[in-house]
Amino acid sequence: MATGDCVFCGCQVRSQGEHALPRWLFRRWEGQGPFTILVNGEPAAKRDGGTERDELPRVTLPVCGSRDPMDCNGWLNSTFEVAGKPQVRAVLDHLQPIEGAAVAAFVRWVVKTVLLYAHPLAQYSEIGHMGVKGSVLEVPGSALTVMRRTGEFPEDLTLWMAVVDPAGPSVGSPVVDRVCLPRIIRADGGVSDSSSATVGLSLPDGRTVLFQLLFHPLIDVVNPFESSGWATRLWPDPPAALDIAAHPVLGAEGRRELTSWFFVGGAEIGIQRGERWPDGPTGRALRAVEQGGVFPS
Ligand SMILES: [Zn+2]
Repeated sequence: MATGDCVFCGCQVRSQGEHALPRWLFRRWEGQGPFTILVNGEPAAKRDGGTERDELPRVTLPVCGSRDPMDCNGWLNSTFEVAGKPQVRAVLDHLQPIEGAAVAAFVRWVVKTVLLYAHPLAQYSEIGHMGVKGSVLEVPGSALTVMRRTGEFPEDLTLWMAVVDPAGPSVGSPVVDRVCLPRIIRADGGVSDSSSATVGLSLPDGRTVLFQLLFHPLIDVVNPFESSGWATRLWPDPPAALDIAAHPVLGAEGRRELTSWFFVGGAEIGIQRGERWPDGPTGRALRAVEQGGVFPS
């Protein structure tokens, strides 16, 4: 049960709210765990202290429905679910390659889903500590209002996909230095913090696909796993084709590295209007890392 103001239009929600993961997805994956949810690189602990789970936690979010003037739930359905559902089934259930408009529909569905799943107001049926400030994707509410009006995702959201086989061999340590995503002090004195959420879903062949969504306001991010081919950037600019069966597979060690290649905070960077980070020595170091041959190909 998620009550409160609709996260998209602000109206008072009278229904029980949107399920961040739609019911059809739950039915498809009932009992097919383990599933993993990571917030800012850390496994989201269950109340019993465990992290892997056989059941995806039910997550609801205050989103208005068909009895409300804006019907944001209906908008989510027509904008993301209708086009995305067949692609999600093709990719995640049948490991089929997709291309073109199908990739775009798949990617938009994933971004929407992780965005809702990790929203600060999300209510979890199972996980104890999520929903606490600092452990969720902190996209400003105003950005979701704009998204409702325009259909466009907020800026500075990046989604990567990786495939992991927890039982597979280690791929070593492709990340030499963790990337610090600093706290940005904007010209207007406000503060912008990055945040991320990673959702892992099991594939029919026993592997796991990880979707890592990073909100990095006013920061240009280089993900060394993307540079070295271990992760695929899905958003922005979705690839022309996506073949999950042919994607490189990370072992358990690689998975751990993937979910901890960056950390948030630790430094405060003041920037002027129109500027972005990185713009100094740290940024040059990042670009050197990106161009270096230190990662497996
Ligand atoms: Zn609404």
